[in-house]
Amino acid sequence: MHWRALLLLLIVLGLPDSAGIRAQGLPELGDVSQAGFTPVEEQRMGESIMREIRADRSFYDDAEATDYLSNLGNRLAARSPDARRTFEFFLLREPQINAFALPGGFIGVHTGLILASQSESELASVLAHEIAHVTQRHIARMFDQQKQSAVGSLAAFAAALLLSRVSSDAAQAAAALGAAGAVQSQLNFTRDNERDADRVGLQILDKAGFDPQAMPIFFERLQRSTRIYESGAPSYLRTHPLTYERIADIQNRMQDMGYRQVPDSLAYQLIRARLKAEFEAPRDAVAYFEESLAQRKFLSEAASRYGLVVSLLRARDYTRARAELDALRKLVPADPLVDTLTCDFGQRALGPAKALGCYREAIKMYPSYRALSYGYAENLLRAGESQEALSYVEGRLQSITDDYRLYQLQARAYGALGKRLAQHRAQAEAYVRMGNLGAAVEQLQLGLKNGDGDFFQLSSAEARLRELRKLDQEQRRESGKR
Ligand SMILES: [Zn+2]
Repeated sequence: MHWRALLLLLIVLGLPDSAGIRAQGLPELGDVSQAGFTPVEEQRMGESIMREIRADRSFYDDAEATDYLSNLGNRLAARSPDARRTFEFFLLREPQINAFALPGGFIGVHTGLILASQSESELASVLAHEIAHVTQRHIARMFDQQKQSAVGSLAAFAAALLLSRVSSDAAQAAAALGAAGAVQSQLNFTRDNERDADRVGLQILDKAGFDPQAMPIFFERLQRSTRIYESGAPSYLRTHPLTYERIADIQNRMQDMGYRQVPDSLAYQLIRARLKAEFEAPRDAVAYFEESLAQRKFLSEAASRYGLVVSLLRARDYTRARAELDALRKLVPADPLVDTLTCDFGQRALGPAKALGCYREAIKMYPSYRALSYGYAENLLRAGESQEALSYVEGRLQSITDDYRLYQLQARAYGALGKRLAQHRAQAEAYVRMGNLGAAVEQLQLGLKNGDGDFFQLSSAEARLRELRKLDQEQRRESGKR
């Protein structure tokens, strides 16, 4: 992420808040106490940017792919120098090879990066580098202690700049990019920060049990592809300029680390195949996996079969999907991704009533697998089992309180049962967790107008409405300061 570019942009544009931002003379590395950006401010800024990103259409909120990425990221983060630090990993549906760290431990990964990686260690090497940017507080150091009030205006700009990079059709952001482009092209990145992130990233990669060789190998491949694409260089290289010096540096550091053959996890292979299957046109995807199986050109046969089933489902070729699914299940008898796909096949090909048994069995095996729990609730709703759907979702909500999708499912179940106040109340809670307080307030007002709750429900909804209004006003006041 071009935080330096952002700061320069603010200075170039002469925004009032930019005067006190110190782009030069950053605190020395290692001097954490001097970093002027407190963790709370950093978190708040990150969340403010995330509100914009979650509303962007490139935000790829796929439970299986996101959970895989989070597991991988958290496994790496646990071996970082700051293991207590929390992270949130998310995906953007974008073809370019890119990953970036935001303030507050949010790390974004383009789906193009996963598809371009040729091993899990390669993907992990980029993640480890981004995690290192966060734990080394490189972003926080960009901000000056005295200029805390700048954080709000920076967040708005950062969001615009970021969106312009991740989403080609963010109109508002495009304007910002026009101005930023000229600035960015003249930028010299903080090479110290990059070198530091490479050094720490490599240690993280090694400690977490991945192959450290994957880092220079992937970087070299990226660099070769740059020469081919010229101006259309992968985004990652624009934010992380690679030099032979940098790659040689990494290689030197690796001399005392042994070569390590690390097999890819099945989850990595399946998720990669799934992204391929989901993003190509269905027929092209079917042809791609058929060919890879026919010529035995694949990372794993199971992954190619899995990709083929996903593609056939998208092409609505249920007869062939069933045959391929049988072949896949022989290769992989028990796996949450394969079981979820099997039940999904049942729901689509045979109908929700016939898929209930599949979901009930699978849920017993993997009670906390998110994609399966959504699929099960969805299937119950489609099968007309609204009361059971409600009980199931409310059971999950007892231990998970920050998942907007569970609240959306709860709202649908209440809706199907004709309970209007409860429906709007649940939808309001979903909006709160999506960071959209205005919409949450609106939902509660709608629910109260319906007036179908009992005394207790009505007064509880009114109290929640007052609470959310207050929060919403506070948030608006804060952004008004920007
Ligand atoms: Zn970097």
